[in-house]
This record gives sequence, structure tokens and C-alpha cells, in this order.
Amino acid sequence: MDRVYLSKEEMPRSWFNIVPYLPEPLDPPLDPETKEPISPEKLLTIFPEPLIEQEVSTQELIEIPEEVMDILSLWRPTPLHRARKLEEYLQTPAKIFYKNESVSPPGSHKPNTAVAQAYYNKISGVKRLTTETGAGQWGSALSFATQYFDLECRVYMVRVSYNQKPYRRILMETWKGEVIPSPSPYTNAGRQFYEKDPNHPGSLGIAISEAIEEAATREDTKYSLGSVLNHVLLHQTVIGLEAKKQMEKEGLYPDVIIGAVGGGSNFAGLSFPFLKDKLIGEKPDLEVVAVEPTACPTLTKGEYRYDYGDTVGLTPLIKMYTLGKDFVPQPIHAGGLRYHGDAPLVCKLYNLGYISAVAYDQRKVFEAGLIFARTEGIVPAPESAHAVKKAIDEALKCKETGEEKVILFNLSGHGYFDLSAYDKFLRGELQ
Ligand SMILES: *Cc1c(COP(=O)(O)O)cnc(C)c1O
Repeated sequence: MDRVYLSKEEMPRSWFNIVPYLPEPLDPPLDPETKEPISPEKLLTIFPEPLIEQEVSTQELIEIPEEVMDILSLWRPTPLHRARKLEEYLQTPAKIFYKNESVSPPGSHKPNTAVAQAYYNKISGVKRLTTETGAGQWGSALSFATQYFDLECRVYMVRVSYNQKPYRRILMETWKGEVIPSPSPYTNAGRQFYEKDPNHPGSLGIAISEAIEEAATREDTKYSLGSVLNHVLLHQTVIGLEAKKQMEKEGLYPDVIIGAVGGGSNFAGLSFPFLKDKLIGEKPDLEVVAVEPTACPTLTKGEYRYDYGDTVGLTPLIKMYTLGKDFVPQPIHAGGLRYHGDAPLVCKLYNLGYISAVAYDQRKVFEAGLIFARTEGIVPAPESAHAVKKAIDEALKCKETGEEKVILFNLSGHGYFDLSAYDKFLRGELQ
């Protein structure tokens, strides 16, 4: 079939935690002051207890609460598409499938965790959430989610994006999010930059520091992060659990699974339920490939060591591949892929050789995005176009060798708020 659907009844009832299958344990996050493993109590100032429990859980399956299922089912289960038109265009014997996460209301996979996080904060008595956003994908997902649980949502948005990309700000405000250009005068972290220059362009690192500071200093407020952490990856596994059922319906199992990696959440969400089969030795030949931009080559060029999650150094130290907390990538259009680190779970599996990684230039990525838009019809988010590019390369390899590989990639989001980037590409003005 060209599209595989699941009924609401076939939605996964539990998230999948890969931790019990890791060949060696994760290195613990360290307290930035003592450099000792951080105590869960310390994390309680910024995260609610149920999410900290999930962060350290070693249980394989964690039940999805009914209240979360209820909101997710506004758009889930998402369809699995066979990319027939793309296959025909490439004249490949490969079978290309993609999981379509662009059908969520905010247009990406991000609400899968935003809804769960909003729910657990609500039942923990939290009244407000703070977060940061670059181009606005995460801020819009969290604004969308918090409105269902009557939580206030304050989003520190990097000022240059706030000024240049109004549409996601409008989306956040439509869903009752309060959007503050960062650096702002409301926090110590922001004020030191704001007072010197009220038009300071800002950075994701500064915005994170502002959001964390506010959560740490207000009793009614917690902080929410859209990628990297174990519990975020856990919530995203609905993608792979659904995809596995959908592939089974087709009587197929993927040879190659591909995802774009910013912090690693959509990649892990799709691949981890399949990676289990590789870790237990049932699918030793399964290839799982992370795709990143050459402008921010965290896995392919980074060092595997402890580093901070933000620029100021307020977050716990986490063991990950990192380009250094002060790394400032070129302003590429795939804003969601510009983070200096990656999820510890993804990094561990990469370090142990269970997954591989590849990096592509922005122009090659947009070329692939355009091919996809002109065959399958959907304009992919610039982030997702990284996965499209790798899927196309794999399919072209099959054309050479005659192999009929089954390729599965994640279409993590659509690009309808990124049309100015496509415009630049079409005009030949893209760097
Ligand atoms: C945020 C984002 C990403 C990157 O984040 P991950 O945590 O690595 O998934 C990728 N694609 C889209 C559409 C995004 O919005």
C-alpha cells in the first residue's frame, strides 16, 4: 500500500525505554558545582518528580497516561508513507518509506513530548512552564500542549529569530504562549547582555540560561526541554512503535533507518524500538544512520566528553559528543540542528558502534528537499530534508548495486514556515 494507517485502538499504550538494553550503563550527569553525580533533589528545582523518575528509569515499558493519549490522538497515529513517486523519480529498486510527523498541529514531532511534559507538570502542581526556542518549533509545540492543561507558558525566543521570523511567534501566541525576545531585562542572565545592548541578537545558550534561571527562582514554575534528555527521547518512541506495527502490516522490516539529529529526539524516537532488535542480536545487519549538517557536525567531528548543555554553564554536565558549549554554528536554516551537543543515549550508542552518522552541506540538503517536494508533494522542514538527502543517497546506491533495500526515514516536520529559506535556495542565494 502507498500509505499505512493504524486505528486509534492500535496506538502504543506504553513508551519504549532503551536503557535496559544498553551494553554498558550511561555515564551519570554531574553537578556543575561539585562535579559529582547530581542528586535527583537538585533537579527537582527545575523538573517535576515524574519526569526525573523517567529520566533515570531502567524499566523497558512506561505506560502512557490516558490524558496524554487523549491529546496525542488529535493527530496520532501518524501515517507511514511509501514514497513511490520519489522511487520512480530515482529509478531505484529500493523501497522508501517515511513516517510523517508533519501532520501534528505544530507541524513536527515535538508535541509528542510537549504534551507528556505538560501533563506531568500539571499533576505535580506546577502552574507555569518556561522554555527557550530558536526558530520557534519547540516553543510552538509547548504552547500548543500547555493550553490543554491550563498551564502558563513563557518562551524565551532568540531575538534575531523573534524579529526575523514572526510566523512561529504568532503561532505561539495563538496557543496562548507568552513570547519574550531574549536576552531580556527579566533575568540576571539576560540583563547582563540586555543592558549593554537592548537589540542584542541573542543565542540559544543565553535563552536557555534565562528560562532555567526563572524556573529555579520561582516556586510555581518549572523548565521544559524539547530534546536531548532521556525522558524526551522516551516520549518520542511512539513514532518508532507505530512505525514498527506499520512495517509489519506491509510484511517488511527496514534495512536502513535514517533520521536528522539536532539533539537526537526524533531520530531516537523512530529508531530505538527497532534498535532493540539489533542490541539483542536479532537484526545484526540493521543500519541506523544519524544525519547532521556540516555546519554543526556534533557526532562526526565532536569530542566524546562531559560538557554543559548551555553557554553560561548552569546545566548539569553531561557525557556527550560535543563541539564545545561556546561553539557558534553558521546561521544555517535548519535551526533545529544547530545544538552543540547530542542526547547522551544517542551518543552512547554511536560510541559503541550501533549507529553511524553522516554530515551534509546545506545546499545539498535543500536540493534533496526540493526533489522530495516535487515528487511526494510535501515541503519538508530543512531539518527533515537532511534525512531525505541520506534516503536519496541510499536509494541511489541501490540503483548501482541492484539491491532492493527497505529504507525508512523520519519526516520530522514540514517546511511551510521555512519558505523564505526555500526562496533563497530557488534564487541561488543560499550560502
Ligand atoms: C527540532 C527539530 C528537529 C531536531 O530536533 P531533534 O531533537 O534532533 O529531533 C528536527 N526536525 C524538526 C522538524 C524539528 O522541529
